[in-house]
Amino acid sequence: MDLTVISTYRCNSKCQMCYIWQNPTSPKEEISLETLSKLPSGFDNLNVSGGEPTLRKDLGEVIDLLYPKARITEISSNGLHPERLVPIIKKYPNIKVRFSLEGDQATSDAIRGEKDGYATKVAGLRMLKEAGGTDLGFAMVIQDENVDQLVNVYEFARKQGYELATSTLHNAWQFYKNDNYFYERKAVARQVEGLIEAMLRSSKPKNWFRAYLNLGLIEKILGHDRLIPCSAGKDFAFIDPWSDVWACNVRSDLPMGNLARQSWDEILNSDVAQKTRKKVAGCAQNCWMVTTARTAMRSNIIPQMPKAEPLMWVLKNKMKVSMGKKICFDSYIDYSDVRPSPLVKRESFLAKNVKARLVKNRLTPDEHYPLKTFVNN
Ligand code: SF4
Repeated sequence: MDLTVISTYRCNSKCQMCYIWQNPTSPKEEISLETLSKLPSGFDNLNVSGGEPTLRKDLGEVIDLLYPKARITEISSNGLHPERLVPIIKKYPNIKVRFSLEGDQATSDAIRGEKDGYATKVAGLRMLKEAGGTDLGFAMVIQDENVDQLVNVYEFARKQGYELATSTLHNAWQFYKNDNYFYERKAVARQVEGLIEAMLRSSKPKNWFRAYLNLGLIEKILGHDRLIPCSAGKDFAFIDPWSDVWACNVRSDLPMGNLARQSWDEILNSDVAQKTRKKVAGCAQNCWMVTTARTAMRSNIIPQMPKAEPLMWVLKNKMKVSMGKKICFDSYIDYSDVRPSPLVKRESFLAKNVKARLVKNRLTPDEHYPLKTFVNN
């Protein structure tokens, strides 16, 4: 099973596609070490994210506690405080670290509302490499504003020995946003094809499967069904800063329990969790978040191996690209079927002085997540 621990909703970025920064938690509310110690061992990929996890003063202790519980431990960070990760990398060089980067300096800083963010994270990843880090990379949210830079960011990362993880705009409780739509779906999707071909040209099998993951992103961008059905609540789960456990980070009507009040086994075997898994089976959201898509692509029997469908696609298309042939994307994707997009303008908060205000006395999950509708097609 994969798990994401959303350690805090405090964040020092001001992204246009994620409003966590407008909805901070107070450190007192955030999931404690004692609660995290109730998690069992044996997770496959355990991602510590946020908000911005480096804003937690006890991040080192969180990692000390969680690292032995998973095959792969990952930290998703905005990269604005790389120095806080150096002691962690020195202790656990193979920990996976991804810094959010949305394109070149001007584009990334504008999308993320960060002053000098680009320079800080590029220098920061170098700092972690010098500290001994072996699994470092950038993560990019594909959107109309940066898709033309996608292949450049991939090549920039690859040349320096870094990975590039990609996702697209999503509407989700985790982002406190339900108006993340593409303006020109088809044009955006067509540009992702370039990244898929570049990844298949790589000598790293990891990149070949990322190419398939990006094929799924094209389907998401166009508003099509998921490439592989979702197994939320069974193969992956999310814990939010209030210790509430959820099947996924999109729908706020898929609760499983609360780790502060229950044991992990009680949560997984509860009636609430069973009901939630039934709802997942009929879920009409066509999300394709990296956390959930990656899990769906893996074999149910040997998690280190892919399912047959992505494996066959990768073998066929890797061979094609190696022979210098083009991939016929139109044989996989129906470009004539593109969902309409409500045109909701995304704002850059880079030049704006918007201060987040802590909302006190939010006691229930309903109060934590006031937006109820999340549509991903
Ligand atoms: S498909 Fe539905 S259940 Fe699965 S991650 Fe998306 S919103 Fe959640």
